Amino acid sequence: MKAPLQWGVFFCLKIALDINMENYKNKILVTGGAGYIGSHTCIALHEAGYEVVIYDNLSNSSFEAVNRVSSLIGQPIDFIEGDIRDADSLRQVFAAHQFFGVIHFAGLKAVGESVAKPLMYYDNNVSGTITLLKIMAEYEVKKLVFSSSATVYGDPEILPINEDSPRSCTNPYGQSKLTIEHVLEDLALSDNSWSLIPLRYFNPVGAHPSGQIGEDPNDIPNNLMPYISQVAVGKLDQLSIFGDDYATVDGTGVRDFIHVTDLAQGHVAALNYLKQQKQSLGFLPINLGSGKGTSVLELVRAFSAVAAQDIPFQFVGRRAGDIASCYASADKAQELLGWKASLSITDMCQDTWRWQSINPNGYNSI
Ligand code: NAD
Ligand code: UDP
Repeated sequence: MKAPLQWGVFFCLKIALDINMENYKNKILVTGGAGYIGSHTCIALHEAGYEVVIYDNLSNSSFEAVNRVSSLIGQPIDFIEGDIRDADSLRQVFAAHQFFGVIHFAGLKAVGESVAKPLMYYDNNVSGTITLLKIMAEYEVKKLVFSSSATVYGDPEILPINEDSPRSCTNPYGQSKLTIEHVLEDLALSDNSWSLIPLRYFNPVGAHPSGQIGEDPNDIPNNLMPYISQVAVGKLDQLSIFGDDYATVDGTGVRDFIHVTDLAQGHVAALNYLKQQKQSLGFLPINLGSGKGTSVLELVRAFSAVAAQDIPFQFVGRRAGDIASCYASADKAQELLGWKASLSITDMCQDTWRWQSINPNGYNSI
């Protein structure tokens, strides 16, 4: 009679251990999770069954975004206010939670500001990432999905851009992303137990279809889509289009716009891929883009149709540092992750317009 009892205890323990392992496999630290892309990704992670802990210093975001994510997922979300450069604060977080991996969005992202304040950018982005990696190593959490950017490709010679294209950067923001990629490559070479996936985003735009969360620039927007939507809502008078003499379909710049909820799904796909692996992946860069180029004028017209109003614009000279065309080869993401962007330019404009109309002043609208 003793043996069956022992087997029973053994199986109960095994089931408890399996459940625990499953929980551990589902818990993700999201640095910068209160920001634009992070907040959308937290929702997608929750919907995919992941448990999320946000770590953000709110330097470029609002706690209201966290509140809205909580109400969209119907439960409170674990939020810790902290800086990725603060090793002790990170240690406390890693000691309190057992993470499967980290999605690392935290960083400063304004190109112009990075030119004016390079030390701030290298310190925040590069030093911050190194501190995060050190603490991850201390706690044996060696899976990272990192927010890289198509900016690391500089002015591409061949389109569409694949992951083996040469890399170069012209400003401190881009250089900080490229430097972090080099750090990740060297780390993977030094220790083969790391899995490090830089996701190179093309041009993220759009908002959650609920209209509750979206992009909320602090100042006058630098990027095209938020600029257009602020003209449409009457906050700005007119759009300046930087250059009409590029060798493109209509002379204006061409970019690969990707809906932020598609991008969020790309992060879920990357984590699912990490979960399936029996061995570490080393350094594995992957483009997240739609694979399609859209010109500035085409985006303006699409937005105009959605908002049922003209978007006043004027042509001005080219913006320093801009390139003519940039769009991704998204084949690697499809082959490895089974991920593909599915939403159209019209979807991107509709969701941006809904967010902007409901929240003319972003998270300060209430
Ligand atoms: P965002 O500014 O909305 O989000 C970044 C978040 O990181 C913010 O909530 C900010 O408060 C936080 N943060 C910044 N420094 C921090 C620090 N030291 N410690 C803790 N938190 C910190 O930006 P986003 O558009 O959501 O971009 C997310 C990431 O993706 C960034 O790393 C950005 O460089 C990268 N990226 C963005 C784009 C884009 O067009 N939005 C394109 C390519 C790459
Ligand atoms: N752009 C523009 N007016 C603006 C902002 C951007 O004409 O107010 C153009 C810019 O020159 C580029 C495209 O829109 O051709 C995308 O610019 P954005 O800053 O959004 O992204 P990035 O330059 O980083 O690709």
